[in-house]
Amino acid sequence: MNNLEFRAWDKELKKWQYFTLLQLIQGEAIEIWTKLENWCRYTGLKDKNGKKLYEGDIIDEGLYIGWCDKCKQYQVFNCLNDCMSCSGDIPWCEFLSDISNTEILGNIYENKDLINK
Ligand SMILES: [Zn+2]
Repeated sequence: MNNLEFRAWDKELKKWQYFTLLQLIQGEAIEIWTKLENWCRYTGLKDKNGKKLYEGDIIDEGLYIGWCDKCKQYQVFNCLNDCMSCSGDIPWCEFLSDISNTEILGNIYENKDLINK
Protein backbone atom coordinates (compact mmCIF):
# COMPACT_ATOMS: atom_id res chain seq x y z
CA MET A 1 0.00 0.00 0.00
CA ASN A 2 1.45 3.31 -1.03
CA ASN A 3 -1.67 5.35 -0.57
CA LEU A 4 -1.45 6.21 3.09
CA GLU A 5 -1.27 9.87 2.24
CA PHE A 6 -3.76 12.56 3.07
CA ARG A 7 -4.50 16.15 2.32
CA ALA A 8 -6.48 18.67 4.29
CA TRP A 9 -7.59 22.21 3.49
CA ASP A 10 -5.79 24.87 5.49
CA LYS A 11 -8.47 27.45 6.28
CA GLU A 12 -5.93 30.16 7.13
CA LEU A 13 -3.45 29.75 4.30
CA LYS A 14 -6.22 28.79 1.85
CA LYS A 15 -4.28 25.90 0.42
CA TRP A 16 -3.99 22.13 0.72
CA GLN A 17 -1.54 20.66 3.19
CA TYR A 18 -0.24 17.16 2.53
CA PHE A 19 0.57 14.50 5.10
CA THR A 20 1.77 10.93 5.13
CA LEU A 21 0.36 8.53 7.68
CA LEU A 22 3.74 8.53 9.40
CA GLN A 23 3.68 12.32 9.76
CA LEU A 24 0.19 12.11 11.28
CA ILE A 25 1.25 9.39 13.72
CA GLN A 26 4.26 11.48 14.70
CA GLY A 27 1.92 14.37 15.36
CA GLU A 28 3.18 16.75 12.69
CA ALA A 29 -0.31 17.99 11.94
CA ILE A 30 -1.30 18.58 15.57
CA GLU A 31 -0.11 22.19 15.77
CA ILE A 32 -2.26 23.22 12.84
CA TRP A 33 -5.05 20.69 13.41
CA THR A 34 -7.71 23.28 14.25
CA LYS A 35 -7.29 25.12 10.97
CA LEU A 36 -7.51 21.99 8.86
CA GLU A 37 -10.73 20.71 7.32
CA ASN A 38 -11.94 18.53 4.44
CA TRP A 39 -9.57 15.63 4.98
CA CYS A 40 -9.11 13.51 1.86
CA ARG A 41 -7.23 10.27 1.44
CA TYR A 42 -5.01 9.51 -1.53
CA THR A 43 -6.66 6.80 -3.65
CA GLY A 44 -3.39 5.29 -4.88
CA LEU A 45 -4.30 6.31 -8.43
CA LYS A 46 -2.89 9.00 -10.70
CA ASP A 47 -4.43 10.89 -13.58
CA LYS A 48 -2.91 11.27 -17.06
CA ASN A 49 -0.63 14.06 -15.87
CA GLY A 50 0.72 11.92 -13.06
CA LYS A 51 -1.22 13.98 -10.53
CA LYS A 52 -2.28 12.05 -7.44
CA LEU A 53 -5.99 11.40 -7.24
CA TYR A 54 -7.49 12.18 -3.84
CA GLU A 55 -10.98 11.64 -2.51
CA GLY A 56 -13.16 14.51 -3.62
CA ASP A 57 -11.26 15.12 -6.86
CA ILE A 58 -13.45 15.91 -9.84
CA ILE A 59 -12.61 13.90 -12.97
CA ASP A 60 -15.41 15.10 -15.19
CA GLU A 61 -18.27 17.56 -14.93
CA GLY A 62 -20.55 16.25 -12.22
CA LEU A 63 -18.32 13.28 -11.37
CA TYR A 64 -15.92 12.90 -8.49
CA ILE A 65 -13.98 10.22 -6.64
CA GLY A 66 -15.11 8.99 -3.26
CA TRP A 67 -15.06 5.95 -1.02
CA CYS A 68 -18.07 3.68 -1.40
CA ASP A 69 -18.92 1.77 1.77
CA LYS A 70 -21.01 -0.68 -0.21
CA CYS A 71 -18.35 -1.44 -2.85
CA LYS A 72 -15.58 -1.14 -0.26
CA GLN A 73 -13.39 0.75 -2.71
CA TYR A 74 -12.94 4.12 -4.39
CA GLN A 75 -15.59 4.80 -6.96
CA VAL A 76 -16.93 7.51 -9.20
CA PHE A 77 -19.81 9.44 -7.65
CA ASN A 78 -22.25 11.73 -9.41
CA CYS A 79 -23.54 15.11 -8.31
CA LEU A 80 -26.31 13.44 -6.30
CA ASN A 81 -23.63 11.60 -4.28
CA ASP A 82 -24.60 8.26 -5.78
CA CYS A 83 -21.90 5.68 -6.42
CA MET A 84 -21.92 5.09 -10.19
CA SER A 85 -21.04 1.44 -9.79
CA CYS A 86 -23.81 0.78 -7.27
CA SER A 87 -26.29 2.51 -9.53
CA GLY A 88 -25.04 0.39 -12.42
CA ASP A 89 -23.65 3.20 -14.58
CA ILE A 90 -19.89 2.68 -14.68
CA PRO A 91 -18.34 -0.58 -13.46
CA TRP A 92 -15.26 -0.08 -11.35
CA CYS A 93 -13.06 -2.07 -13.76
CA GLU A 94 -13.99 0.28 -16.58
CA PHE A 95 -13.13 3.28 -14.50
CA LEU A 96 -9.80 1.76 -13.41
CA SER A 97 -8.69 1.01 -16.96
CA ASP A 98 -9.68 4.51 -17.96
CA ILE A 99 -8.19 6.44 -15.10
CA SER A 100 -4.85 7.04 -16.82
CA ASN A 101 -6.73 8.97 -19.50
CA THR A 102 -8.54 11.06 -16.96
CA GLU A 103 -7.60 14.54 -15.90
CA ILE A 104 -8.30 16.02 -12.50
CA LEU A 105 -10.41 19.13 -13.10
CA GLY A 106 -10.61 20.28 -9.52
CA ASN A 107 -12.22 19.09 -6.32
CA ILE A 108 -15.63 19.21 -4.69
CA TYR A 109 -14.48 21.74 -2.09
CA GLU A 110 -12.96 24.41 -4.34
CA ASN A 111 -14.86 23.81 -7.56
CA LYS A 112 -18.48 23.34 -6.55
CA ASP A 113 -19.55 24.77 -9.89
CA LEU A 114 -18.18 21.69 -11.65
CA ILE A 115 -20.39 19.41 -9.55
CA ASN A 116 -23.60 21.40 -9.23
CA LYS A 117 -24.60 21.72 -12.85
ZN1 LIG B 1 -20.61 1.55 -4.73
